Amino acid sequence: MNCNHHPDDSTLLSYGACSLPDALSMVVACHLAVCDHCHDKVADAELIGLGLMEQEPLKSISKSSRDSMLAMLDEPVDEAYFETRSIPDDQTDGDIPAPLRPMIGQWFSDLHWRTMAPGMKQFILPASRGKLRLLKISPGTFMPSHGHSGSELTLVLKGSYSDELGRFSVGDVADVDPDITHQPVADTHEGCICLIATDGPLRFKGLVPRLLQPFFQL
Ligand SMILES: [Zn+2]
Repeated sequence: MNCNHHPDDSTLLSYGACSLPDALSMVVACHLAVCDHCHDKVADAELIGLGLMEQEPLKSISKSSRDSMLAMLDEPVDEAYFETRSIPDDQTDGDIPAPLRPMIGQWFSDLHWRTMAPGMKQFILPASRGKLRLLKISPGTFMPSHGHSGSELTLVLKGSYSDELGRFSVGDVADVDPDITHQPVADTHEGCICLIATDGPLRFKGLVPRLLQPFFQL
């Protein structure tokens, strides 16, 4: 799948080092299942990390090592690595991404969606660190404008949406920093389903979203 928007290199590096909160990690795993570009980068990062650990097992990684690791993510990967490692991406027997199926099954239509507001439904997934949810948005629906107190990763699973950062289609990831405020709008031709992970509460401007926030774990 050709994706136009990917997680930041620092996010991929943290994923490869198993240091992302599990909610964010699941979004990355679902993106890797459809994005060879990022899959290769994570494989590179894991190989580099293993090499560094063999060289300097007792020292913490310096900033220069971390910078060089990020730079090396753009170099070609050893193809032999993939002969022993692959992420399942079989979606012929369900529309839910393979990494999520052990938790919630195979079909979006089987989930018990909870209405949040007109045109917006959510399904909360279990996560020990961070919040993880599926959001189903009707065509043309505006989400409340919001900022963030931590990281937010959004993966589009169906349809598409647009916001201040661009247009996001199936497979695309929005890796949003805490300093960004945005208002996603589902495109009008079909509904949109996204997998969203956060590691801090959202910051809403409007009164109604702020009042509803505790009820929907936003
Ligand atoms: Zn990618």
